[in-house]
Amino acid sequence: MENGLLITGGTVLTVNESNEVIENGAVLIEKGRIADVGEASALNAKYANVERLDASGRVVLPGLVNLHMHSGLIRGTAEDLPVFEWLTKYVDPKHRALTEELAYAAARLCYAESILGGTTCVLDMYRFMHRCADAAERLGLRATLAPYVVDKPGMDYFETLDGNTRLVEERNRSANGRIRVWFALEHLTYCTEGAYRRAAELAEKYDTGIHTHGEESIEMARRLKAETGRWPVELFHDRGILGPRTVLAHCVWLQESEMELLAKTGTSVAHCPVSNLKLASGIAPVKELLDLGVTVGIGTDGVKENNSLDMLEELKFVPLLQKARLLDATAIPAETALRMATIDGAKALGLDREIGSLEIGKKADLIVVDFRKPHLTPIIRGKYNNAVSNLVYAASGADVSHVFVGGVPLLKERRLLTDDAEAIRLEAQEAAEKLFELREPYIPV
Ligand SMILES: [Zn+2]
Repeated sequence: MENGLLITGGTVLTVNESNEVIENGAVLIEKGRIADVGEASALNAKYANVERLDASGRVVLPGLVNLHMHSGLIRGTAEDLPVFEWLTKYVDPKHRALTEELAYAAARLCYAESILGGTTCVLDMYRFMHRCADAAERLGLRATLAPYVVDKPGMDYFETLDGNTRLVEERNRSANGRIRVWFALEHLTYCTEGAYRRAAELAEKYDTGIHTHGEESIEMARRLKAETGRWPVELFHDRGILGPRTVLAHCVWLQESEMELLAKTGTSVAHCPVSNLKLASGIAPVKELLDLGVTVGIGTDGVKENNSLDMLEELKFVPLLQKARLLDATAIPAETALRMATIDGAKALGLDREIGSLEIGKKADLIVVDFRKPHLTPIIRGKYNNAVSNLVYAASGADVSHVFVGGVPLLKERRLLTDDAEAIRLEAQEAAEKLFELREPYIPV
């Protein structure tokens, strides 16, 4: 593909300003960027001497942006517990036991899973993130790394702001800008006021972003209000971290004043519907946030809470939950959900000028989904075109056939090209067994 690659004959979902869908469309990738987008007939004639990928019966769209995830190895092993019991009983002991090598195995596994499901860009909050940078570099994924920083006494097994700063200095904008590092804080109950203030200053100094958990449970939101007199988003505001650089995960329980603060400050939200359902947190007021103009992207959260990193599965829950909560079938259309999983996620990361839609000049982060399957049939053209609906409501990550990041092919007919998927799986299996062994002494009785 020296001279470029023409992906031709598929239905192209551009996710441009007008959500243009090109039936029998084509996308030209050249030097890592999208060099042309249009009708297949026109592009086939115009570019006679480039390599071709026949995408008939398939859908071509921007790569999915997972706006909140945690790499990890404890999938399916700490189930059916309320969020704070689950955190203190199983998750914090896991953090105590985690080592650099185990974190590397976890990141490799989760980044491979992400690519296999059509995710091209992640905002990952995890530990030992120089090794996550290594994993993302190797696999070819676009990643923004957000280390779990905690500074409350007795929790020194987490990351520190000093370590976070070193990681920013060493790895931010590395791998040709594909890997970035943000400042990140675990949670209001894990971090002091000073940590938030300092993170805000550092993010400004290094011109990078901030990621932290907004509230999931109503009990915690009420507890913080009772203790401080302020609702969680008001606390974030007091501590100086709200603004266009910041992405808050969850934000399930918001007062009207908090939603207005998010809108006024340009703060983005990572909506994680499956995690919020599974941990019985509730349903975030996504429709209200969108109506106020808040940028809302979609995240899977980690494998320990979801339990999958399948963004196409996640995508289905977004409109369904808002429709049921508001008893309004028009609450969030499929097109809006697709925008949230692509261009809006990119915007939250400050990357919307580079990725998130199929437009000339943008980086070629795109995926191909094979619709020649019983559960994605029929493919209808014209005024009843059903490509976006079938993608949002019927497709899953296993239907993704090809993945490109910056024009580099990472997945071809479901084969991972940049790493050995089976070796990754075996390494993760071994690492998980080791992690359970190391964690056992820390599990409270
Ligand atoms: Zn989380």
